[in-house]
Amino acid sequence: MTITPKGFFGRKGFELDLRALSVRPLGAHGVRIRVLACGVCGTDLHFLRDSVDYAPLGHEVCGQVLETGAAVTRFVPGQQVVMEDVALCGTCDQCKSGRVDLCRSGFTMQDQPGMAEEIVLHENMLHDASGLDPVFAAMTEPLAVAIRCVEALGPDPGKPLAIFGMGTIGLFCAAYAHFRGAGPITMIARDPESQRNKAAWEAARGLGAQQAFYTSEKGWMEGIGFFPSVILAAPPSLAAQALKLAAYGGRVLACGVTLGEGKTAELDVNDMVWNKKSLLTSIAEPGLHFPLALSLIRSGRIDAGRVVTHQLPLGEAWELARLYGTDKPAVKTVIIPG
Ligand SMILES: [Zn+2]
Ligand SMILES: [Zn+2]
Repeated sequence: MTITPKGFFGRKGFELDLRALSVRPLGAHGVRIRVLACGVCGTDLHFLRDSVDYAPLGHEVCGQVLETGAAVTRFVPGQQVVMEDVALCGTCDQCKSGRVDLCRSGFTMQDQPGMAEEIVLHENMLHDASGLDPVFAAMTEPLAVAIRCVEALGPDPGKPLAIFGMGTIGLFCAAYAHFRGAGPITMIARDPESQRNKAAWEAARGLGAQQAFYTSEKGWMEGIGFFPSVILAAPPSLAAQALKLAAYGGRVLACGVTLGEGKTAELDVNDMVWNKKSLLTSIAEPGLHFPLALSLIRSGRIDAGRVVTHQLPLGEAWELARLYGTDKPAVKTVIIPG
């Protein structure tokens, strides 16, 4: 008898629904994996705060291969893997022209939640993650996202960098920018007294940031100075502030999005033109830089565990409402289906 695997869908108000997942055919290139660990992403929290319709939760997955399709040669049952939530196709005009970042016909999770017992994926989405702690391995996706942000911005080694936002992406941007030699690194968040930001600042310091400024503090911009590079890993509405902090010739990279309020910003384009400031964006579809992220985690050059503040069994995912809803102590929670 086969037992149907279950997985979580969620919508606004932190409404979670544990559903039986429809049985997926494996196909020649399919890989069935048992989920060992799945990080809760900012995107999942946007669904849980603002999405009217139920959405599948979780895409930061480390799993173990259960079964492989007939054509799969790179993976075997028992092997531990991590997953790109969108993998480039390799055959479209963009991929064939060397602009794989523009691929829009890649392999996806096809509405399966990563916060699940089992999922079926195309083999092109997977990377070997043997021997890694599954919780650390699940951080490959957010670290790869941050690598992409930092590479798109290209902060100079030895030059100051400011990062708005101390969520997982902001923290991993600090870690990777530090690894690349940028700095000093200044973190900017809202409230110094929130439990979450206290934990996040501990993580940021451990990952290479030097100082933090808080926008809830009066006159917080005084003395902060100007930065040749700024990362906005926070709501888009903060883009004007981020540009204000950019130095002459400075570059701001925005990667934060929201499904709720705060999608827009009023920019001083005059200031941007006169002072040669530019605004760039980055979104992690398709997934890139997974091999680098994996090797940085594996070698310990980036201590991925520092961002993980909470772990929850799959059956206790309802706790997310408390961890992110009211007292908000969590920076990164990892769900452990077990
Ligand atoms: Zn994510
Ligand atoms: Zn493509």
